[in-house]
Amino acid sequence: MSPSQAGTRERVSARVRALKPSETMALSARARELRARGEKVVSFAAGEPDFDTPEHIRRAAVEAVHGGHTRYTEVAGVLALREAIAAKLARENGVRYEPKEIVVSNGAKHAIWNALFTLLEPGDEVLCPVPYWVTFPEIVRLIGATPVPVQPAAGRYKVTPAELERALTPRTRLLVLNSPNNPSGAVYTRREIESIADFVARHDLYVLSDEIYETLVYGNAEHVSIASLGPELRERTVLVNGVSKTWAMTGWRLGYAAAPRDLADGMDRLQGQMTSNPSSVSQQAALKALTGDRGPALSMRDRFAARRDVMAARLRGIEGVRLVEPEGAFYAFPDVSERIRAARNGVTDSASLCDYLIDEAKIVCVPGSAFGMEGHLRLSYAVSEREIEDGLDRLLAAFQGL
Ligand code: PMP
Repeated sequence: MSPSQAGTRERVSARVRALKPSETMALSARARELRARGEKVVSFAAGEPDFDTPEHIRRAAVEAVHGGHTRYTEVAGVLALREAIAAKLARENGVRYEPKEIVVSNGAKHAIWNALFTLLEPGDEVLCPVPYWVTFPEIVRLIGATPVPVQPAAGRYKVTPAELERALTPRTRLLVLNSPNNPSGAVYTRREIESIADFVARHDLYVLSDEIYETLVYGNAEHVSIASLGPELRERTVLVNGVSKTWAMTGWRLGYAAAPRDLADGMDRLQGQMTSNPSSVSQQAALKALTGDRGPALSMRDRFAARRDVMAARLRGIEGVRLVEPEGAFYAFPDVSERIRAARNGVTDSASLCDYLIDEAKIVCVPGSAFGMEGHLRLSYAVSEREIEDGLDRLLAAFQGL
């Protein structure tokens, strides 16, 4: 008898069995696999910049290794980095934190885990506006709390206080706000953030504000942190950010949470028993990112802006595809429900459409269903303009064969 058959109990706990694998990561892996087999794949599945980390940051990391930054640090990150984060939040986001109110973690995803574990009790309900990043409901469920999806009006990708209000129950504890949004690219305006802030305060809720895409905003869009709207909101918010997207540093695993002292202490205690400090070398690299030349981040942003224009123009030219112009992040989230309804070939929903597109056109997209919104596809424009053109030529041809 093999160990896996020993006894009657499943080896993998029910909780872990219930976890959904990350669909975005699975699709990126599928694209890599096809490429390794020699297929000419265009992957629109990427959740990360295709640029390299800027040179001055890489150099700072090499110097950190030689300079002896090779040991454990304070659990919440070295003081110099927390000071630099506090200065950045004051300067760019208009909200003041003490270094003791900041916990640096292994990526923004880890910061979100820390925040949700610290804030939630089993049985709590969490408002998750749709479409949501795939990880939010999974973490909430693993804690034993309940994610409550909140659908915006048809054709819209932002929720209103009235829509949130309808999802409220006496158990509602927290709202997850992610602007600029993955997957839709929607960015809440200052006025919309103000009305949501009012809703949060009125109902005595907390907010997890995931601001990881804050610098990637285009046209007239402006990023507003809900924590900056006065002391009442600062008190109710855990602000999450990091260097992954702005600085093309996804592999370094460096994010942070800023929160009132009791919550920061809680996250610090949790992280102390879970992972200890994030990588000492990555902390020095992030310190350079936050205190050094901002030029490379701005030029990456400009490159994304140009790609967004190419992708949006091409998508809008395809019959049966509706696109609300993405204003931030690096994703377009077209509504293709009309094409799905008209399809034969076994395509009945966004997941089977993605399978069809991989098989027929060797292009990889992520189905809207992964983000709680059927009838859509997420296409990342963190790829070259040539690939965008090539991939959308193939998409158009594949749609004609649907
Ligand atoms: N939040 C959102 C909305 C994201 O899209 C991502 C990355 N896909 C993260 C958090 C995680 O960022 P990090 O790599 O810093 O963990």
